[in-house]
Amino acid sequence: MTNNSNRVAIVTGASRGIGAAIAERLAKDGFTVVVNYAGSEAAAAEVVRGIEEKGGKALIAKADVSDAEAVGHMFDAAEAAFGGVDVLVNNAGIMQLARIAEADDAHFDRQIAINLKGTFNTLREAGKRLRDGGRIINLSTSVVGLKLETYGVYAATKAAVEALTGIMSKELRGRSITVNAVAPGPTATDLFLNGKSDELIDRMARMNPLERLGTPEDIAAAVSFLAGPDGGWINGQVLRANGGVI
Ligand code: NAP
Repeated sequence: MTNNSNRVAIVTGASRGIGAAIAERLAKDGFTVVVNYAGSEAAAAEVVRGIEEKGGKALIAKADVSDAEAVGHMFDAAEAAFGGVDVLVNNAGIMQLARIAEADDAHFDRQIAINLKGTFNTLREAGKRLRDGGRIINLSTSVVGLKLETYGVYAATKAAVEALTGIMSKELRGRSITVNAVAPGPTATDLFLNGKSDELIDRMARMNPLERLGTPEDIAAAVSFLAGPDGGWINGQVLRANGGVI
């Protein structure tokens, strides 16, 4: 692969936050982008409009990633519109915090359904349908390393995503498809900011030696590297994009 033109990327959870920044960055890099969302239709449409305004190509695609059938239809729509898929970015995710002793079944089941089963659903589809030479990038979290209290179930779903990453990179032997993960630290999006006091946000922003929160664009830059020509020799790895917090 020498450049990204004529290549098609599906970005899950691209209506807001990190996913929206990834979709915009990959479009800027020359990819045709499938902007997936589950609930925020207007926001997803706005991401598509922004890409098209800058001369890029994008398609809006509603699919709850925890629904395997809906994920299949999203791949069908991408193939029908653009002839195939080259890149999958598994960004869709939710985060709920609770101490393990106090976490109820819904807390566990919902995060497993979206973060782990959702990633499995898209990986399974991509394993069958991605064009040779493609790229898969899964979003993990640096909390897998930091092991902060109350992040137990969330971090467990992402540790599982890291395991799938390494194993799938081997299973795709012979097809020139790389599978990697990007593990952000605290990044300024709804997922991180909602429900936290200014004091806590400030304290967490200063945990890393660069003493600021990550931006969605910081994370999109790491994904862009792995999706583009310069990232081709990186395979089966977890890249922690977090300003050095761990
Ligand atoms: P966010 O601002 O809450 O955005 C989440 C995105 O995921 C939205 O576009 C949402 O779409 C989509 N989504 C949620 N459930 C979905 C589902 N079932 N099917 C399809 N899409 C779904 O979150 P973010 O901070 O950008 O996080 C993006 C990824 O980075 C997540 O995997 C997260 O775990 C990871 N991460 C974030 C941080 C951080 O500090 N922000 C740190 C480490 C890792 P709708 O609104 O349309 O439902």
